[in-house]
Amino acid sequence: ARPSPFLEPGLRTGPDTLAIVSLSRDNFQPITLEQSTGVVDGYAEGATLNTRFGSFPHSTLLDIPWGSQVRASVVDTGSRGRKRRRDDVESDNTPIPSQDDGEDESTPAALAKAVTASSGFVYILRPTPELWTTSLPHRTQVVYIPDYSYVLQRIRARPGTKLIEAGAGSGSFTHASARAVYNGYPRNTKDDRGKVFSFEFNKSRFEKMQEEIQSHSLEGIVQITHRDVYKDGFLVGGKSPKATSIFLDLPAPWEALHHLSRRKVLKSGKEDDQDDSWVSPLDPDRSVHICTFSPCIEQVTRTVTELRTLGWTDIDMVEIANKRFGVMRERVGVNVTNDKGANPTPADVDEAVTKLKKDLQRTHEFHKAQQQSKPASTSSDTGMDIDEPATNGTSKPAIKGEDAQDAEEEPVFMQGRIVHRTETELKTHTSYLVFAVLPQIWGQEAEDAAMAKWPCGK
Ligand code: SAM
Repeated sequence: ARPSPFLEPGLRTGPDTLAIVSLSRDNFQPITLEQSTGVVDGYAEGATLNTRFGSFPHSTLLDIPWGSQVRASVVDTGSRGRKRRRDDVESDNTPIPSQDDGEDESTPAALAKAVTASSGFVYILRPTPELWTTSLPHRTQVVYIPDYSYVLQRIRARPGTKLIEAGAGSGSFTHASARAVYNGYPRNTKDDRGKVFSFEFNKSRFEKMQEEIQSHSLEGIVQITHRDVYKDGFLVGGKSPKATSIFLDLPAPWEALHHLSRRKVLKSGKEDDQDDSWVSPLDPDRSVHICTFSPCIEQVTRTVTELRTLGWTDIDMVEIANKRFGVMRERVGVNVTNDKGANPTPADVDEAVTKLKKDLQRTHEFHKAQQQSKPASTSSDTGMDIDEPATNGTSKPAIKGEDAQDAEEEPVFMQGRIVHRTETELKTHTSYLVFAVLPQIWGQEAEDAAMAKWPCGK
């Protein structure tokens, strides 16, 4: 089996694999890289990523180190035989090479010139569950990074774990859990392999998930079953997944809990000790950790009642209230993005540098006046008042220029005042997380087996 780009991405991008394109800090686009036939007669053949920052034929994104910056191409991305005129550019925003500079576009030199003349750029990133969560096509509400990172450690998901998940939904949690349980497939024997047993009862979501698992080469680690788990439980092909970690993101998790027991549960809620043919989906020799994810407190109450009835212990509830703080040095005139929130183009940079020089002159004069009136401050200050002029360390610019010549010598990282702001736009779907543990059954047999393994036991 081909290694999954999520688990063993290698050092460089390759054909038929998923890559995440970073268009700006919070704008990611997943694409499957396709092998193109290259540039023929000055025209790029094959798939192209068209963005508002320019066009990127897949041939320019292939076989480069993950994390590379790629400049937009001005090579025509139409197919051969459909050569377009320059004014076609307006209609579909796809740049094409200059047709009237008298140069033969098919020569390498002309192509290189055309490519260098491009403006925007993107970064090509290796897929991670976090980037996938940020960019995946939503079919349902999804579990976001702050929640799943906490959930996975609480339910003890680690390399080699057998994990049950329902429902699969858009696969956000599935990808994160696949990485958590991955322990080197296919190098391990079948029984030692970490595995995610995922269940989804909506047919089209199930089919879409199956496609994604295959195209992300996760078949060896994620097994998805089309199933109503309230009715039919969690066995796979009639066999027990022997799970030790469980995550339920379902509208009514309490309806599924009676299947997650060590013995058959009767309608009365009592366990049936007589039915030895009943198969439990849980590992009989280990404690099992569960998390259910519900948006309403009424759902939590019903889940907790059912967990108690079925003998689960250590029940508690957590809500993750995550906030992202942006901490930065306030440096006059330095833009990190252009006015559209995108990576800056060379034109944006020129504009920023001109602005920086002007601001710098003003700041410099301000500092001179300050120094004449009182001794210079030595410590950096923190605070939210970002409207006041900077009073510390803005005297040395990030660029070298005439204005900077006589500026105070201060290391770049010390320039500007520290400011911080909370960022409210962090995506998360607030839900209550209920955790519980179903202890391993501990009888004389388990005690004897444990003592036999322990050298001092006898
Ligand atoms: N955790 C997922 C993620 O991170 O992308 C999102 C799960 S979504 C909120 C809930 C899913 O549970 C839906 O896709 C729904 O079809 C599925 N579902 C609801 N009831 C189910 C049942 N009885 N059996 C299996 N799946 C069920």
